[in-house]
Amino acid sequence: MHYVVTRLHWVTMGKGTAWRIWSGAGACAAALAGLLAAAASSAEDPPERTPAAAAEECGPGAERRTGPGTVRDSHGISPAEAAEYERMLREARVPHRGDGPVTVPVALHVITAADGTGDVSDDKVREQIDVMNRGFGGGYAGVDTGFRFELREVTRTGDDAWFGSFEANEAKAKAELRRGGPETLNIYTVDMGAGVLGQSTFPQDYRTDPKADGVVVDYRTVPGGGRKGFDLGHTATHETGHWLGLFHTFQNGCSHPGDYVEDTPYEREQSSGCPVGRDTCADKPGTDPVRNFMNYSDDPCLREFTQGQADRMGDHWHAFRGRQGNPAR
Ligand SMILES: [Zn+2]
Repeated sequence: MHYVVTRLHWVTMGKGTAWRIWSGAGACAAALAGLLAAAASSAEDPPERTPAAAAEECGPGAERRTGPGTVRDSHGISPAEAAEYERMLREARVPHRGDGPVTVPVALHVITAADGTGDVSDDKVREQIDVMNRGFGGGYAGVDTGFRFELREVTRTGDDAWFGSFEANEAKAKAELRRGGPETLNIYTVDMGAGVLGQSTFPQDYRTDPKADGVVVDYRTVPGGGRKGFDLGHTATHETGHWLGLFHTFQNGCSHPGDYVEDTPYEREQSSGCPVGRDTCADKPGTDPVRNFMNYSDDPCLREFTQGQADRMGDHWHAFRGRQGNPAR
């Protein structure tokens, strides 16, 4: 059984943002960036597959983490891939200082099982957007990045395969559901299984694979969603950070150029829980940025973006997304 119900109507957003449907394949495109894995060790939430198997499905663009007590290894993007994204950014960068805040239109796609399992109510959807706005606005801590998110449409699809095996059905689902152009943030909520919280594409990937552009989060990560330690809605904020071009704070570990952001201290590896005061790169200034949204700490720990990250997201926005006709600019 497959159905689509649109509850909020698409709002005309100006040139270049018409409803588009793309064709093509690539279920787990190399564009995958922010695959954020949760604790797979939770007793009530046993893993259905190993992180390694999942990483294989998703290819080198995927990144994930394993749960507390297990060996952590980063399957994030490689230093070479990060360098290539940086090169693309430098090539495309345009001057934009003083342009003011950016309002990002959002289309949120709730994908459930046919029996309704995995539903995210309209109220929860709005709460999720509020959490993102608060996070990007400096409402918890850190800087106001200047980014705001405006919900334009919610779609609802009941489909067991899309819900439970999104990666295998990703191309088809996104081709059918995705709205807008590069400026529109499409968020999909699905069951990502144990061990994974979300994924994202990078803005640099839009030109070559526009249909894949967007963020996917496990439906239990929305505010009050029930994912233990990860249900304040910060997974969507983290993934949207990737969607706006940010790497993890632990990208490249203690080695230059780290995450390509000046004011986020170097960090050897991802955090879990909330290890405030941790300092994994003792020969570099500052303690680990464990409260940064681009780390892997539990939701209650995450609270900030830095000015350097705000500037970097602005660079990506204007290079890859904002010039395409966003009326909010
Ligand atoms: Zn990530």
